Amino acid sequence: MLPKLYIIVPCYNEEEVLPVTAPLFLGKIRELAERGKIAEGSRVLFVNDGSSDSTWEIIKDLSRQNEVFLGISQSRNRGHQNAVLAGLMEAKDLCDITISIDADGQDDINAMDAMVDAYLDGCEVVYGVRSSRETDTFFKRFTAQSFYKFLAFLGAEVVYNHADYRLISARVLREFANFGEVNLFLRGLVPLVGFKSTTVEYVRHERLAGSSHYPLKKMVGLAVDGVTSLSIKPLQLIMSFGIFVAAVSFIGCIWALVTALCGKAVAGWASMTCIICFVSGVQLISLGIIGEYIGKIYLESKHRPRYIISERTYQPENEKNERA
Ligand code: UDP
Ligand code: MG
Repeated sequence: MLPKLYIIVPCYNEEEVLPVTAPLFLGKIRELAERGKIAEGSRVLFVNDGSSDSTWEIIKDLSRQNEVFLGISQSRNRGHQNAVLAGLMEAKDLCDITISIDADGQDDINAMDAMVDAYLDGCEVVYGVRSSRETDTFFKRFTAQSFYKFLAFLGAEVVYNHADYRLISARVLREFANFGEVNLFLRGLVPLVGFKSTTVEYVRHERLAGSSHYPLKKMVGLAVDGVTSLSIKPLQLIMSFGIFVAAVSFIGCIWALVTALCGKAVAGWASMTCIICFVSGVQLISLGIIGEYIGKIYLESKHRPRYIISERTYQPENEKNERA
């Protein structure tokens, strides 16, 4: 039996780009169905992430025009990761496979063919990986590479050059639903679920319209979430560094004592100032890192819902996957 595919599209203020990309998603679903790769009931599920423009109206219009388009709306803007999660959790009982993709047409939708083929060959997770960064500027390439190296150094292993364009089977999603964390970093969490996986390369284009909602501040926030969600290596690093500083201080103490006992002690203002500045700097950074983790524990301990769906363009009962 052919798998029923749901394409999950997070949308935040995408009124400019949705009318351009929605037909492309529809075309892809039709093409895959005609080629006998996916089942007839396959859908495009838009997740409106609390947009303040007419995105939700556009999604509702699309769903009235064609039954392939479905939409859910989050009660407010919760960010890209939560929007994707809402879509995945909604789809897990309605279909057999999901592919999450950005709304802006940056990810090449033709990579979906290879993703579905990989699923039909037995893979449960297929990561979309950018094939090259030749079109990027040197700065962009350098910062992106440093980002992956930095994450790996801090113990957060992620698939290189993979963002959130991936196929996940409903079976994996049902297991993933047990990962109840609020601090979401999907590209790091999905590999933790396991199951057979592979990668598919694709070329990432420019946005078809509109502008990015991922300024540097959000990207740094995502990187911090990634590290704190996947690893406690920073805490171990400050422990090692603390031991190193303590060892050096111990040698310094002996030296100071010997100097004093020999009666050679001098005012020593500069060395004192340097040591105080250095050690207090180290302490503040260490406290900051510990504070970041405590903050994350605080947020996790509240068990607040990770998304709240306020509206749907359809009745979930009608879309239920008979096979699930
Ligand atoms: N997005 C979202 N919520 C947000 C920000 C972004 O759902 O708070 C969606 C956005 O509509 C798009 C995807 O996440 O489909 C990626 O965002 P964007 O293209 O702005 O990021 P970039 O590709 O520049 O990293
Ligand atoms: Mg984009």
